[in-house]
Amino acid sequence: MLIKSEAIVIRTSDYGESNKVVTVYTKDFGKMGMMARGAKKTKSRLSSVSQLFTHAHFLIQKGSGLGSLSQGETINTFRGIKQDIFKTAYAAYMVELLDKTTEDNEASPALFEFLKLSLTYLDEGVDQDILKAIFEMKMLRLSGVSPQVDRCVLCGRREGIFSFSIGEGGFLCNQCRHSDPNALVLTPQTAKLLNLIYHIDLSRLGNVSVKEETKRTLNKVLTTYIDEYTGVRLKSKRFLDQLQKFE
Ligand SMILES: [Zn+2]
Repeated sequence: MLIKSEAIVIRTSDYGESNKVVTVYTKDFGKMGMMARGAKKTKSRLSSVSQLFTHAHFLIQKGSGLGSLSQGETINTFRGIKQDIFKTAYAAYMVELLDKTTEDNEASPALFEFLKLSLTYLDEGVDQDILKAIFEMKMLRLSGVSPQVDRCVLCGRREGIFSFSIGEGGFLCNQCRHSDPNALVLTPQTAKLLNLIYHIDLSRLGNVSVKEETKRTLNKVLTTYIDEYTGVRLKSKRFLDQLQKFE
């Protein structure tokens, strides 16, 4: 059966002398893997559409096992991402996180649009740390383990100074803070930003300007939270962490 869908390449690996196994996130069928025969050869017509991050119209031959890529028509290669090692590292982390938190063949056109928009913004130079945080929060929500960032986890209070508790799974107010000695006290700006990142409609993301210190706290909170609640260990995250030290 031949199926057709717009898709973005989220993982590739070499297979034999000339083939590649490509995993794409499609708009109409969700995540799927396929063989791209001959794609390792630069002259192959499948070579360009089989590159990581490529956004294209794919024509896929689907059988009982691994499908195969018949044809592809590139829409966007995200050159701005590929030409910048930092952007490449952020994008690689996002697609690996998506890969690890989604199952095959579960269609979500909305998630496809979210991925496409995230890469488009990254390509265009929108703040990569904020995009990463929004992406992480989205994946946590999809995995059903999102933190409580609207109110205190324990008493429901919505006003005041909040701390972030990994153990309790979100905000703690000043009265409840003692229940987790490890809770990290947040500045009002960071608490507000976490709330914003949770609720944001990515298509409405305007110009973002966030202090470096706030971004560092945001990164610390989300990284620790993801480690604790999802158990995913990503190669791309280690690389990104190393790169960030040089930034
Ligand atoms: Zn409380």
